[in-house]
Amino acid sequence: MKRYITLLAALMLTLSLSGCEKEVAPVIQPEVETEQTTSAVTTIPDGPVGLVPSTEGTTASAETTLPQETTAETIETTSETTTADEYTNGDITVKNGITYIRGVIIVNKTYSLPSDYNPGVDKTAEDAFKKMQSAAASEGLNIYISSGFRSFDYQAGLYKRYADRDGKAAADRYSARAGHSEHQTGLAFDLNSIDDSFANTAEGKWVAENCYKYGFIIRYPKGKEDVTGYMYEPWHIRYLGDDLAKEVYESGKTLEEFFEIKSEYVE
Ligand SMILES: [Zn+2]
Repeated sequence: MKRYITLLAALMLTLSLSGCEKEVAPVIQPEVETEQTTSAVTTIPDGPVGLVPSTEGTTASAETTLPQETTAETIETTSETTTADEYTNGDITVKNGITYIRGVIIVNKTYSLPSDYNPGVDKTAEDAFKKMQSAAASEGLNIYISSGFRSFDYQAGLYKRYADRDGKAAADRYSARAGHSEHQTGLAFDLNSIDDSFANTAEGKWVAENCYKYGFIIRYPKGKEDVTGYMYEPWHIRYLGDDLAKEVYESGKTLEEFFEIKSEYVE
């Protein structure tokens, strides 16, 4: 009988122990649930984090209207320096759709201006021209501006006229499409007779030799059409400021070569 009681006690102990085990079990379950909860929680941060790159992607692709050449590199650097209207990539800064290198506006077949960019003739460039004009006059030479600032719309009409007359391919060699003309910057002037013969006049020769002293360069030199995108234009000068104009002049390079940029239409 005593042995029976002992067995019963042992059985009860076992039952109570297994009862304990049952109590333990629910403790484990919440742990599993906790794990699930945790993993559910971790997917939540993943959501917003995952969204960030795609937002950046959207921002970058929104800016693909910028020169194609620089777009790929731009995407990497945009996150640090980009605001809605400005980004910097190496030497190139684009602000409000206008491209600058070393603070100088760049316009050619690759880099364009917004249609509403309408600054008129640049005062500093105009004053520099007047100084140059006086210097030339003191040597008995007469230089004058035949064409200065041209608006986007005016250039559009001009280019269309040339393209209608000579075809687009021919027009592209000597006339800029709207938004791609340096004349829209207000920093470029066509002097005297807009003709190749200007190069052989006393004025043409003087301008070629001296314009850098007043902050200008001959923008489309002879034999550089494949670089600048334009035929020789001895009459077209571009204001860069005294220091840069001298640097470019002494380098013997075109502005494209000097800044290592291209001048090519996208299509
Ligand atoms: Zn011109």
